[in-house]
Amino acid sequence: MTEYLFPPPAPVAIPIRDSRKRFPVNRIFCVGRNYAAHVREMGFDPDREPPCYFTKSPSAIVVSEGESGAMIPYPPGTSELHHEIELVAAIGRAGSRIAVEDALAHVYGYACGLDMTRRDLQLASREKKGPWDIGKDFDNGAVITPIQPADRIGHPAEGRIWLTVNAEPRQDADLSQLIWPISEIMSHLSRIYHLVPGDLIYTGTPDGVGPVVAGDQISGGIDGVGTVSLTIGPA
Ligand code: MN
Repeated sequence: MTEYLFPPPAPVAIPIRDSRKRFPVNRIFCVGRNYAAHVREMGFDPDREPPCYFTKSPSAIVVSEGESGAMIPYPPGTSELHHEIELVAAIGRAGSRIAVEDALAHVYGYACGLDMTRRDLQLASREKKGPWDIGKDFDNGAVITPIQPADRIGHPAEGRIWLTVNAEPRQDADLSQLIWPISEIMSHLSRIYHLVPGDLIYTGTPDGVGPVVAGDQISGGIDGVGTVSLTIGPA
């Protein structure tokens, strides 16, 4: 039997709605620039950009469940923490070089996610043509609701995606505006990685991203998928 120097970290797992089982997280892939109006607000041309990806660590996961949702401390190293509401696809079946028409069969279910972003650090990295990791991958930076199985809710292709901060509207769009829909993202990503059960894909955020400060209350939702809420605590 393997002896460890210290206890290995417990698996990161997400509740599945109306189930006693949990969804164990393997990798977290995130798609950048996937709604045209958000691509423009970030200073790019939405027409000819292929999907762009970054990753977050499973340890960044925070589950937002129920009315009160989650509370996270304001993260260190930033003075510009941004919200990004996103549809998250949870992979249930392995695959590589997946055809677009077969892709949705590999999705176990969907959740509502917040790709929290240290925008000042991300933009400074972008400026230096360096990796985005410190802007995107940090403790509590990947908020997610319990997963809704696709055999219960189907595969959402349209529906409102919205976010408010202290009840003020910030983001309001429709899933039908995704430049690369889930099936195309999965097909493209599966040519770069072997996708396996437990992988999550944050599919990108619509326009209206912006800063939050300690004490702010974020609420968001995606029609047919769920609602997420997050309170930002003191640093
Ligand atoms: Mn994002």
